[in-house]
Amino acid sequence: MPAPLRRAFDYLSSYPGLAPGMRVRVPFGRGNRIGVVLECNIQPDRPDDKLKAVGEVLDNRPLLNRELLQLLQWSAAYYHHPVGEVIATALPGPLRKGLPAVRQTRISWLLTDLGRNDGSRLLARAPAQQALLNNLLAGSGKIERDDPLLSSDRNRRALNGLVAKALVVRELRPLTLGEPQPAPSAERTPLELNPAQAEAVREVNQGLKQFRVHLLDGVTGSGKTEVYLQTMAAVCAAGGQCLLLVPEISLTTQTLERIKARVAGQVYSIHSGRSESERLEAWLAAANGDAAVVIGTRSALFTPFRNLGLILVDEEHDLSYKQQENFRYHARDLAIKRAQLNQIPIVLGSATPSLESAWRADSGSYNRLLLPQRAGAALPPSIRCIDVRNTPLDAGLSPALIESIEQHLEAEHQVLLFLNRRGYAPVYYCHRCGWTTRCNACDATLTFHRRHNRLLCHHCGASAPLPQSCGDCGATELLLLGAGTERLEEALLTRFPDHGLVRIDQDMTRAKGALTKRLDAIRSGAPRILVGTQMLTKGHHFPGVTLVGVLDADQGLYSTDVRATERLAQMLLQVAGRAGRAENRGEVLVQTHQPEHPLFNQLFEQGYAAFCQTELAERRAALLPPFSQLALFRAESSQVARAENFLNRAADLLRQSAGKEIQVLGPLPAPMEKRQGRYRMQLVVQAPRHRTLHQLLGRVLPLLDRLPRGQRLRWSLDIDPMDLY
Ligand code: ADP
Ligand code: ZN
Ligand code: ZN
Repeated sequence: MPAPLRRAFDYLSSYPGLAPGMRVRVPFGRGNRIGVVLECNIQPDRPDDKLKAVGEVLDNRPLLNRELLQLLQWSAAYYHHPVGEVIATALPGPLRKGLPAVRQTRISWLLTDLGRNDGSRLLARAPAQQALLNNLLAGSGKIERDDPLLSSDRNRRALNGLVAKALVVRELRPLTLGEPQPAPSAERTPLELNPAQAEAVREVNQGLKQFRVHLLDGVTGSGKTEVYLQTMAAVCAAGGQCLLLVPEISLTTQTLERIKARVAGQVYSIHSGRSESERLEAWLAAANGDAAVVIGTRSALFTPFRNLGLILVDEEHDLSYKQQENFRYHARDLAIKRAQLNQIPIVLGSATPSLESAWRADSGSYNRLLLPQRAGAALPPSIRCIDVRNTPLDAGLSPALIESIEQHLEAEHQVLLFLNRRGYAPVYYCHRCGWTTRCNACDATLTFHRRHNRLLCHHCGASAPLPQSCGDCGATELLLLGAGTERLEEALLTRFPDHGLVRIDQDMTRAKGALTKRLDAIRSGAPRILVGTQMLTKGHHFPGVTLVGVLDADQGLYSTDVRATERLAQMLLQVAGRAGRAENRGEVLVQTHQPEHPLFNQLFEQGYAAFCQTELAERRAALLPPFSQLALFRAESSQVARAENFLNRAADLLRQSAGKEIQVLGPLPAPMEKRQGRYRMQLVVQAPRHRTLHQLLGRVLPLLDRLPRGQRLRWSLDIDPMDLY
């Protein structure tokens, strides 16, 4: 367990080879804990005779190399987070628990040339050994340690005899040799690059030994993956290692096959679907140089490498790179820092770059690599709004959208319908008085799920049976309002029963492997109707899809979050990007109650770059990121006054210490004030530059840490928060 304290601790040790990055067991409080050595030979913070001694040294070599240790310490300082917790985040579970840092090995015995050619002759007078040898000769020439043959003492003795005579040799292999080899059908030859791709590859590859941030700004379907592949191949061919970060693992399976087929060396993947020991395998393989490529989600950022040569961040705008609890780091931002510390290039790829990255490319600090067109023969999709005001909707489907679906199905293509709301219906209400079923613990309505025939809260997981009558007026006429993916699926199956339908959302993909199975089915082309939430839209390449329907584009227009419009624009273009990625041109229909909204016009008529210009101008006027730096204090408690009092004290301390260029806003209730039975308040600190913010927090946090706050208050600090107001 890491100590949640913003400092390191000093210990004495006379262990000769002790070095930074090694794990030690040290006395701490009344028990002992596992720690990582940060520095040796320091001037301690108190006299030697007051220091405790290191107990046990757990590693004989540093587990965290200098490069990674430097990154972790930098991260702890930047996010004002306890360094112990930062290091714990980086370590795979088994290492955190103090288990040895060794790769699991598989032991087997192999027939030698001598054994194969002369064995029988040499063993004339050793029948047991002869029998075992015959077994080997008849089979694959290899026997594994867990082979049933070796359960008998007689055979084990015979095996030792064969080893002594050099007729077999013992072989140790790592348990996993990275990902299995690519399918023989996988394409091994690089694609012929179009001029824009070629230019991008050239720019990256010509500066492989220096720090530079490249923003690979390429429309959906422009062939960014091929650029990643050719830059990675160049690095691997020169003996370097690559780290590829991806937002979600469903993306990985597709990309993984292509990478395996194309780079020299072993490819490892790290993500939440892996066991702790598999993560450890990949971690150690990268550290000792066996892994050529590590591909993984957010936490893969903290993999140690022996010779890291290139970092790539796919879909760099994706929110999943930000850890939203505990150590709230942004993996893309730390990846950039890591590239800088290592003096290597980093490639950030996206069709819809974050405004932060777009701005840095505009201002010249990032190198923009533009892929303005789809690769190969695919054309950009046509995008159009459908005005659904005063239109009858069937589970959210307008007549115009239904007609288009018919046409595309008629032409034997696939259609994709996007609705970012799971369940059957989001509201269950009283027809007489308007009462709705709400969660007791959260500020939220309960969603009806037909499959469970229950009401569920999507924020705390609470569930309740359907009430028979109104909780307010007692009327029995209760109605469902609105549609989620479950209801949409039902309506589509009624209208189009014979076309095959796949639904992809959290509810349908909870079982292990369920998502991959469904994605494979879609790629086979058999199901012609695809229904899903955001999960279905991210980065997938479904060549058969020609129509994309967005059922409800308005959700994002009503949010007050600073980043709401940015997210909506990214989401719309990413969904739209699934249409017409192969020979048939794609069509995108966006249902909205606000067809004249300038966002739609600009985005669909002029494109994402124009949208960014407008949005950046607004951010600049309001002094919002990237034109300022934000920090967000959150506090929550079962009693609202407790959270508020704490943040009031924090606000006072901050205001006392802040220069006049710093704004302290709040405390204010969080957007969802009550969640899981706790009241949530927040306080925003806005500063013109990171340095000023950093200095202020450095002065105030020690004071805050010392404030009495009782047991039932939780608070946290979020640097560069992604969710605001
Ligand atoms: P992105 O990640 O930019 O959305 P992908 O990398 O998935 O795009 O590529 C989209 C499609 O274009 C893929 O089918 C890919 O094989 C194809 N493609 C990429 N580069 C080329 C090229 N130079 N010539 C022909 N086809 C290409
Ligand atoms: Zn009622
Ligand atoms: Zn709830």
